[in-house]
Amino acid sequence: MSPQPDDPDRSRFAPEELGFDPEVLRAKYRAERERRLRPDGAAQYRRAAGEFGYYAADPYTERVDRETVHDRVEALVIGGGFGGLLTGARLRQAGLTDIRMLDEAGDFGGTWYWNRYPGIHCDIESYSYLPLLEEVGYVPQWRYSPGEEIRQHAIAIAKHFDLYRDTLFHTRVTELRWDEEAAEWQVRTDRGDAFRARYVIVSSGTLTQPKLPGIPGIETFRGHTFHTSRWDYGYTGGSPDGGLDRLADKKVGVVGTGATGIQVIPHLGRDAQHLYVFQRTPSSVDVRGNRPTDPEWAASLKPGWQRERMDNFLTIVTGGHAETDLVGDGWTSSARLQRQMLSGTVDTSLSDEDREYLDEIADFRKMNEIRARVDEVVTDPATAELLKPWYRYMCKRPTFSDFYLQTFNRPNVTLVDTADHGGITRMTENAVVVGDEEYEVDCVIFATGFEVGISGVLSGTLPVYGRDGIPLLQSWSQGPKTLHGFYSNGFPNLFHLGSLQNATAVNFVHILQEQATHIGAVVAEARKRDAHRVEPTTAAEESWIATIRAHSRDTYRFLAECTPGYYNNEGKPRPHTNSFSPGPVVFHDLLRRWREEGGLDDVLARA
Ligand code: NDP
Repeated sequence: MSPQPDDPDRSRFAPEELGFDPEVLRAKYRAERERRLRPDGAAQYRRAAGEFGYYAADPYTERVDRETVHDRVEALVIGGGFGGLLTGARLRQAGLTDIRMLDEAGDFGGTWYWNRYPGIHCDIESYSYLPLLEEVGYVPQWRYSPGEEIRQHAIAIAKHFDLYRDTLFHTRVTELRWDEEAAEWQVRTDRGDAFRARYVIVSSGTLTQPKLPGIPGIETFRGHTFHTSRWDYGYTGGSPDGGLDRLADKKVGVVGTGATGIQVIPHLGRDAQHLYVFQRTPSSVDVRGNRPTDPEWAASLKPGWQRERMDNFLTIVTGGHAETDLVGDGWTSSARLQRQMLSGTVDTSLSDEDREYLDEIADFRKMNEIRARVDEVVTDPATAELLKPWYRYMCKRPTFSDFYLQTFNRPNVTLVDTADHGGITRMTENAVVVGDEEYEVDCVIFATGFEVGISGVLSGTLPVYGRDGIPLLQSWSQGPKTLHGFYSNGFPNLFHLGSLQNATAVNFVHILQEQATHIGAVVAEARKRDAHRVEPTTAAEESWIATIRAHSRDTYRFLAECTPGYYNNEGKPRPHTNSFSPGPVVFHDLLRRWREEGGLDDVLARA
């Protein structure tokens, strides 16, 4: 009998029973990790700023001059992505009329504003990912929505909740300063605005600033170049649906094969005269199976359907139990493998050691399937070998595509593996160089991802001065201090959205929705009680930090053994995860109980 997934009897996991040798795979993973580690770690990248600022410029909306703003609003929401929009919506529902939304982009949408590359799709099922579907009265047209449909939905939310009324787009907050006497924030921006807000909600995202590899000679390249999050359709032709007709006579190089690269590369392969894919670490690429929404199914949906589907998905992907799997896709079927990385319910019937061992076996099996799929699809065996990922499933964001691997069977597509050189060696005026090999190209497209900043507040790009003018980063010099990730002592009425000391999950919009609901409830209660300050005590912060630290060991160990990437700070994971490890389902329940059982009494103070 073949070993059962929850049977801890290791004698039954002999290589001949399993069909593979765990020790051989472990050694292979270690070797591949070593091959990819770079001594410069996260310092290998360059900001798309200064001399590289054009990589981050907005190609979609013209920046227009406007009058500066000098007024007072009740709430300022920084960030017009789903986090900001959801918070704006909940604040409206809490009765606030005076809400100002602000973003560096030219419109709402956040990541879906910036990322419009060909092939862009949501990799989470749209019926769970797109928020407030029932409130706005929309059912997505595809199981996995194209980016433009998601962007239009963001706009629809803004219109539905009247959030365009007082927006400041193409604007960046340059300073937040607390005025203790007035109990409000003084806000300054890069457009010369100076206004006041009682509440400030920071939802500026975690993966927003495009990053470039620090390739020697990158600045000498004379061909065309851009980052995937600022797609230049003027150069390529076509649209997010493809049809990049101006590339027909161009040799194109694309750098990066993460979640973005996987979606872009099939279009570039189809339309460029020749495509060079510069790969350092291959992604795991599973089956997608996108399909249009069945109109009969859409018509049959009963009120409350989205909440039920979102809860069901979140429960399953974080390792909890649900009677039925409503979504039934690559995420829910690999839930067990996400548990260690993204946290969740822990199976307490097994010892830690047995659980980890069994999870690892399940992981090897999944990755063997992923690697076998490469052999099935890619006809050239040498190329297939290079496309196989050798690491645990959640070391990098898993990807899904029915077109990516197939692209490497095209005669005009060349895979260039750069792993032995730690990436691209250098660039010249007209070529990309890997080792001694030179690849002449007309255009280089960087699918090289984003800086990981837990909001501008932590990265220092948004300076915050709290009570007595104390800078937030000074107050957090020994590490972030919050209650539930939302607010900090000394910085009243300032709310943060994001995973820091809060929760995380693959469907991060679900997390944002819960955060927005919580903030809406806290602000509504503050208004009801006429409390002018929302601020936790230092004791509440300390207790919450202790709770976060108590559970963080598992994730750290897992990440420490992973191949480098942004998940593990390029091979050097930080000592604790900074999210609540028992998982979002437990966390959301904890928050609900906290609100119901008098927690608000501790953070609301009357003037
Ligand atoms: P990633 O950071 O995941 O990928 C960057 C890629 O660039 C990697 O393949 C990396 O290789 C490669 N790279 C970096 N430097 C070099 C170099 N010097 N030479 C060669 N290659 C290099 O960025 P993505 O934009 O792909 O994805 C970021 C995140 O955005 C995803 O993880 C996901 O969370 C989100 N996303 C979500 C989507 C969705 O549908 N919901 C779609 C797209 C993105 P290496 O791995 O070796 O570092």
